[in-house]
Amino acid sequence: MSDFILLATNNQHKVEEITKILSDYTHRIKSLDDYPGLPQPVEDGDSYYENSLKKAMHYYKLTGIPTIADDSGLEIDAFNGEPGIHSARFIKPDMPFSERNEIILSRMKDVPENNRGARFRCCCVVVYSENDIRTESGTLEGRIGNEAKGSFGFGYDPVFFVPEYDRHLAELEPEIKNRISHRAKAFENIRKHLDK
Ligand code: IMP
Repeated sequence: MSDFILLATNNQHKVEEITKILSDYTHRIKSLDDYPGLPQPVEDGDSYYENSLKKAMHYYKLTGIPTIADDSGLEIDAFNGEPGIHSARFIKPDMPFSERNEIILSRMKDVPENNRGARFRCCCVVVYSENDIRTESGTLEGRIGNEAKGSFGFGYDPVFFVPEYDRHLAELEPEIKNRISHRAKAFENIRKHLDK
């Protein structure tokens, strides 16, 4: 088995978070920057699992080293679970998140507190070989707040209220987010088999 593992994501925010979560493995982690020019996979799966498996298998076949890929998203109860797997492209693909968050807040304007539930979900697949594939997942439960708050993190963090901390996710220091997040939970489980 290779000493290295490829972290197959083009999202720089995720790379930063995952590298911190797996800080004791950074010497073994390669990123897509180490393999310039690889074609990107098509993310057309119907679930987080399908998308992360597609990504991990795609890069495993191109590089030949064990590969981790994740797929994640925000599920809003009042929107019947949307944007979910469409989170990265929700409303309009290239729309800045500040605008998207404002649109979410305005669509949620009249939604009562007891229907503002939401969660971040992360599904992570590690392809060690074509016959050895592991899946781990994690969720972070919370609510859509009444305003955008905080400047840490990325994406939907400013509108996501975390009851346990009485703060929006973007108000929490990265050290805290990287302990409690959906991604932290999924990658904590991955850590358990990385050494094997
Ligand atoms: P993916 O790269 O296809 O997994 O897209 C994930 C998308 O979900 C991101 O572009 C964000 O829009 C959203 N997302 C996932 N995790 C987070 C998070 O930790 N904070 C804020 N937004 C997130």
